[in-house]
Amino acid sequence: MTLSFHYVKKAPPNADGVVTARARSLVAEMNRIYNEQTKIRFIRASQRVVTTIFAGPVTVGSHSVLGGSNLTQNLDTSTRLRILFVEKIAPDQGREIFASSEGFPGRNILCRDALKPGGPIVDAKETVGKVLAHECGHSFGIKGHLDPDERHLMHAKPKGEIIPRTLRGS
Ligand SMILES: [Zn+2]
Repeated sequence: MTLSFHYVKKAPPNADGVVTARARSLVAEMNRIYNEQTKIRFIRASQRVVTTIFAGPVTVGSHSVLGGSNLTQNLDTSTRLRILFVEKIAPDQGREIFASSEGFPGRNILCRDALKPGGPIVDAKETVGKVLAHECGHSFGIKGHLDPDERHLMHAKPKGEIIPRTLRGS
C-alpha cells in the first residue's frame, strides 16, 4: 500500500521540515496499528513539496481538487494514497477538522498540522499516526462511524486501534 506525502502549506513559523521530519515515524506508527491485524503494509513511496493555484479555502470537499494535477503541481500520482498536509481545513458544520478522507474508498487524505487554526503543530506520531490510520480506513472503504465502541479505530473519535473485520482480511 503505497503512500505519498505532500506538503501543501504556507508553513507557519518553525513548521518548515516538520512533515519531512515526521513522515517516517508516521508510517511506522500506521504500520504498527495495521500490521498485526491486517495484511496491509504501508510504504512511504515519496515525499514532496507541492504548489497549488487552488485559491481555497480548503474544505472537506477539496480532496480531489488539491490532489488533482489540474491545479496542483509536483504531485506523486503513482501511489494508492496521497496524504496532503495543509495549513488549515475550514470547519465543517461548526466542527474543526484535523484530517479528512476523500471517500469510501478514496485516494486523497487531507491533514493539517495543528488541531486548531493557529494552534501548536501536532508532531506526536501517536496522535497523527492514529488519525491517518483512521482516515486510511475510510479510504479503504469504511463508511461512517457506525462503531459505538471507542476502542475501535473507526470510531468517530478513536481512542483504540481495533480494525474492522472487513479490513482484516484484505
Ligand atoms: Zn472518520
